[in-house]
Amino acid sequence: MRALRPLKIDLHVHTRFSRDSKTTLEDVILYAKMRKLDGVAITDHDTVEGAEALSREDTGLIIIPGIEVSTRRGHILGLNVTTPIPKGLDPAEAVDRIHEAGGISVAAHPLAVYKGGLSMRSLSALKLDAVEVVNSSVLPFSLLTFLNRRLSRKLGLPQTGGSDSHVPEAIGLAYTIIYAESDVDDIIESIRKGATVPEGEPIPFRLRLKKLREG
Ligand SMILES: [Zn+2]
Ligand SMILES: [Zn+2]
Repeated sequence: MRALRPLKIDLHVHTRFSRDSKTTLEDVILYAKMRKLDGVAITDHDTVEGAEALSREDTGLIIIPGIEVSTRRGHILGLNVTTPIPKGLDPAEAVDRIHEAGGISVAAHPLAVYKGGLSMRSLSALKLDAVEVVNSSVLPFSLLTFLNRRLSRKLGLPQTGGSDSHVPEAIGLAYTIIYAESDVDDIIESIRKGATVPEGEPIPFRLRLKKLREG
């Protein structure tokens, strides 16, 4: 069997289609290339508009359309989703809708309850496909990364990483190494199978301030 080249993909990127980001689609392309990413997942809050627009463009990058759904109990990423999913649903229903839309569901920054992460109790009851272990925007970064890694093992779920960037400079600070062919369906299947390694670092303090000032 032919060995697959590992892909480097930031699986959690916000754009100006999120209420709290000014990142343009051009910024995403520019910074993703500067950071030597093979691709990004566009996961705006409760909308697929930005993801759809970027998927239509010829960017030279792998664009995974996605959404970050604000459920009644916390945030869930839907990857490979082009159908809008309403906010305010029960998390179990949001997961079902993500699956019906042909996507996979990932617990976004779990245990970071202060920023809308699902709690331990909510997590274990859900049919999730993966856990976001590395997220550059959580604080304290090292402790939550450690706890989330332990959580994913306990739940027996694959691990992902993403920057959760709301400013262009944060794109690619965290990412997922994925062993897959360079197409979205194969990437999604590889995440589901757990052929992933999450990596990354926290967003530097000066960029957090920038987000606060602009956000
Ligand atoms: Zn979130
Ligand atoms: Zn996010």
